[in-house]
Amino acid sequence: MREDRRGRTRSGSYNGAYDEIRIEELEIYAHHGVFPEETGLGQKFFVNAVLYTDTHAAGLEDELTLSTDYGTVCQFIHQFLTDHTYKLLEAAAEHLAGRLLLKFSLIRGLTLEIRKPSAPIPLPVSSVSVSVTRGWKRAVIACGSNMGEKEQYIESAIRKIAEDEKCRLLQCADRIVTKPYGGVEQADFVNGAVLVETLYEPEELLGLLNRLEAEAGRERKIHWGPRTLDLDLIFYEEEVIRTDRLTVPHPDMQNRDFVLIPLSQIVPDWIHPIYGKSVSVLLEELEGKNKA
Ligand code: ATP
Ligand code: CA
Ligand code: CA
Repeated sequence: MREDRRGRTRSGSYNGAYDEIRIEELEIYAHHGVFPEETGLGQKFFVNAVLYTDTHAAGLEDELTLSTDYGTVCQFIHQFLTDHTYKLLEAAAEHLAGRLLLKFSLIRGLTLEIRKPSAPIPLPVSSVSVSVTRGWKRAVIACGSNMGEKEQYIESAIRKIAEDEKCRLLQCADRIVTKPYGGVEQADFVNGAVLVETLYEPEELLGLLNRLEAEAGRERKIHWGPRTLDLDLIFYEEEVIRTDRLTVPHPDMQNRDFVLIPLSQIVPDWIHPIYGKSVSVLLEELEGKNKA
């Protein structure tokens, strides 16, 4: 269940997009494949696409500019699959899905199937295909700095996130000044947070955050020690992730007012997927504990 842009909560949607535009069996002659006869001679491919979007305004107004023109999408798919050559259908589908999501801003997500009816398999098989579902995902990132030009480190990181083509900045919290956390004697922090939508998977987004930290000259010496820039992934959709490199939601966020205060400004109603409580309730509870 999630909230759509009209503020309601419904199930069975793709990021608030309940409507679908479908393209079926678009035929394209192209050169994808592992074998030389495939890349040399080429063969027929068929593309099926389901575009998750919101057609409400276009429908009411009967106005194409408020929707996604499926003719243009078909042209784009045709152009893309004839301009590029991939060994794998997986690669063709992955790259095409990304390009479509970047090019057509009203498409929130899509399912894209590329089918090869004449795949070189010496067995009676009518076709093989690869289908991927991709889309814009919402993520919350917290930022902190307590060395040097703190504001500028944060400012510059947020600008770089916004400039990355696979991230769109949706909300940016006001910066706050906070006392250090975790018992290490050090300077005050400047903290902030942003809400983004992104085409990156969680691990890829962490990769971007680590790269930006490195660009800010971040050195990892003492745990919880002074740093030019710290970027933590707090939420990624309603996902719960526990790998060696990544824990989401951030495991300590509920105990940190320097995270919860900026978050309560930009995503007060975001429900923590483990505790089942909103950001504003988590902040109230923490403030209660701190007073007690
Ligand atoms: P804390 O994570 O308690 O805020 P920190 O930010 O000082 O401490 P870092 O040294 O920045 O800790 O990060 C240590 C490792 O934490 C990183 O290498 C990263 O792989 C891992 N990590 C796990 N989950 C997350 C997350 N949600 N966001 C950022 N890093 C994470
Ligand atoms: Ca941190
Ligand atoms: Ca960190």
